[in-house]
Amino acid sequence: MLNNDSTAYGAQETMTVPNSETSQSPASFPTAGDYYRSVFAWLSPSRENVSVKCVFHDDHSPSLSLNLTTGAFNCFACKAKGRDIVSFHAKRNHLSHSKASAELKENGFDITRRPASRSVNPEYAEWEQRYKLILLNEEAYCSAVGDLLHRYITETRGIPLAVIPETLRLHPNLHYTDQSGRIVGIFPAMLAFVTDPYGIYCAIHRTYLAEDATKAPVPSPKKLTRATFPGATKGGAIRLFDPRPKMAVAEGIETALAVHAATGLPVWSTVSAGGMESVLLPKEVREVIICVDNDESGRGLHSANILAGRLMREKRNVQLAVPRGQNADWADVFGGQK
Ligand SMILES: [Zn+2]
Repeated sequence: MLNNDSTAYGAQETMTVPNSETSQSPASFPTAGDYYRSVFAWLSPSRENVSVKCVFHDDHSPSLSLNLTTGAFNCFACKAKGRDIVSFHAKRNHLSHSKASAELKENGFDITRRPASRSVNPEYAEWEQRYKLILLNEEAYCSAVGDLLHRYITETRGIPLAVIPETLRLHPNLHYTDQSGRIVGIFPAMLAFVTDPYGIYCAIHRTYLAEDATKAPVPSPKKLTRATFPGATKGGAIRLFDPRPKMAVAEGIETALAVHAATGLPVWSTVSAGGMESVLLPKEVREVIICVDNDESGRGLHSANILAGRLMREKRNVQLAVPRGQNADWADVFGGQK
């Protein structure tokens, strides 16, 4: 029998067993979602991923993620995890895998439709990647006056900021890998979360640094981690400061910081020219200053114009701020050297 935890979660009286026209079809069996709804009675039927209070530790906030399609579960707090409802049922009721499997079968649950591997289960992969990003960010710390990150911004880049925003963090020793994934060096690095339009972390931007507070001597000192899923960063930005009705956007982090130092405005970094074209700003932002990278190729100006057109269609006031001189950005104007 399946145990409904009626004290903590409220029991569901009957298990929903969907009727189906073809009883041989796997779809006619109760699914992972049906199983989880029998354990956590209120789960929304319309969502694939839900978070609930974990049943494996004394949880005060919903730390346990469930995938209602595959049955995969993952607790970010106590690390309980598994890839299907058999693992969940076994763990929860202290059963062997085969006993749990037999019980589920007895109750009509389809336990044959398991994901072949983690890599083909995109939802599971998304949690894993988001969790990796959070762990990576926790290995870093806020900048203090005089530390490597502060020196990189204020001395090397010449941006007169008294305090580095807490959205930027300093990782003391981060692996640098080449294109084949081989670790070729360990460097300090500036980390910044890229968040999607809903404010959810979806990637981390890294700037590798050398001990003299310049950029590390590597082929690509600036890199983005893999996004939590393909396309996750679309419309996103590095939210260096909280948005206000009047704010600015710039491509690079340093440019954004330089503009902030010069104007006091909150500035977001769109990471790239492509990011500039797609960035989504909150509704309350009514006036936007687009800080253009005046690069030789004209790409920066092109992308800024695309964003300006869209923001105007969204009925916001827009100003383009184009720095004078070929190949100049606002970090060059307000700051020092590259
Ligand atoms: Zn837990």
